[in-house]
Amino acid sequence: MSTPPIVSKFGGSSLADANQFRKVRDILLADANRRFVVPSAPGKRNDKDQKITDLLFLCHEHASRRLPFEEVFAIIHARFVGIATELGLPAGFIDGLTAELAKTKLEIARQGEAGRKADYAASRGEAINGRILAALLGWDYVDAAEVVFFGKDGRLDAGKTYATLAARVKNGPAVIPGFYGSDAEGQVRTFSRGGSDVSGSIVARAVSASVYENWTDVPGMLITNPKIVPGAFTIEVVTYQELRELSYSGATVLHEDAVFPVREAQIPVNIRSTNDPRHPGTLIVPREHPQAKIGYNITGIAGRKDFTVIQIEKAMMNAEVGFCRRVLSVLEENGVSFEHMPSGIDTLSLVIQDSQLAGGKLDAILDQLRHTIRPDTIEVRKNLALIATVGRGMSRIPGLAARLFGALADVGIHTRMIDQGSSQLNIIVGVDADRFEDAVRIIYNAFVSESGRMERLVA
Ligand code: ASP
Repeated sequence: MSTPPIVSKFGGSSLADANQFRKVRDILLADANRRFVVPSAPGKRNDKDQKITDLLFLCHEHASRRLPFEEVFAIIHARFVGIATELGLPAGFIDGLTAELAKTKLEIARQGEAGRKADYAASRGEAINGRILAALLGWDYVDAAEVVFFGKDGRLDAGKTYATLAARVKNGPAVIPGFYGSDAEGQVRTFSRGGSDVSGSIVARAVSASVYENWTDVPGMLITNPKIVPGAFTIEVVTYQELRELSYSGATVLHEDAVFPVREAQIPVNIRSTNDPRHPGTLIVPREHPQAKIGYNITGIAGRKDFTVIQIEKAMMNAEVGFCRRVLSVLEENGVSFEHMPSGIDTLSLVIQDSQLAGGKLDAILDQLRHTIRPDTIEVRKNLALIATVGRGMSRIPGLAARLFGALADVGIHTRMIDQGSSQLNIIVGVDADRFEDAVRIIYNAFVSESGRMERLVA
């Protein structure tokens, strides 16, 4: 039996120009197990540049209004042909590419005018980029529309997709463009933006990969937001559960839906940088994986601003049967979800994202709460920021909570809310939004010393 393959997905910045393509080729050829590659569409080469996918959406938009889109399409054409030419691909290939681009342009116009959705147009960035990469590598090209299927409900038809993919790509090597597949009617359909991450995960699952590599422009996930803590260290190993907590609290790494296929199959994800391929990046593993034993006192710190707290006080609320249900039914009637519900004796708080309360919903909720539960007091506190300090070591190393609260107290940052989930993977604190950045820095410094040394977890 051959060794399990590695599936490598490359993001848009990793394939933004010919030079990046060469780096991708070198990475792929450096390990014979890298037998499946899932490319994104070319991304930005610099801050002022445009993503090909955005330009394709623009073309579709014009087409659907029956407006000319020659100029925008010319930019797309020049970008692809430029990459292929600079890579020195044979003239025959460039002719084929030019013909495909011309066909694509006609089809975008046809679909736009027919009032179709933008999926076909949007998907062409990956489809065409995949052709160029396949030509550069001399690998098989597998059109994602023939192997990734969406069901009638618009969700991935996992059974059909895995079976078809595995049978079609066999041992590889193959290029399978990211971001799209086809629906029950055979029409091209895309995932939501950033969806090549999802495609890569699906391919990894279908071929039972040993690891799903997700190559981007940063060497892994950082302990916290580098805009707040410049030079924040990279997380070496994070578990799927921790990743979920960090992403929920605002860290952005992978497309949300990308985690599920690989997680179900217990396949690790390795976030790597195309620009720094020697860096081991961040490994995301199941909790039971031997690598999960490696780690530090905390894994990461993430946070978000823009929360509102509704604080309800009522003597003896604990004795009132159905109290909580009545509170929550007010939220439900207003179509509002909540994030946390810390409670004390005679007090209950609802922590809600500001966006949920837009359009006068806050006043409506307060009125209804006063009416249905007759509280002693009800107060609203706005501008709350939530910070999650996440780590699988939390339950194993005593005194971490004390260190966190001590550090905040030392600089006079008031914690307005504390929530420790029963997973014991995190401690969430609420602070005034204007102290958010300070608080993240303080927590980081409390756990990571200047030399970057943190306490190691002991296996
Ligand atoms: N090219 C698509 C986007 O820009 C998908 C991806 O890059 O993952 O959203």
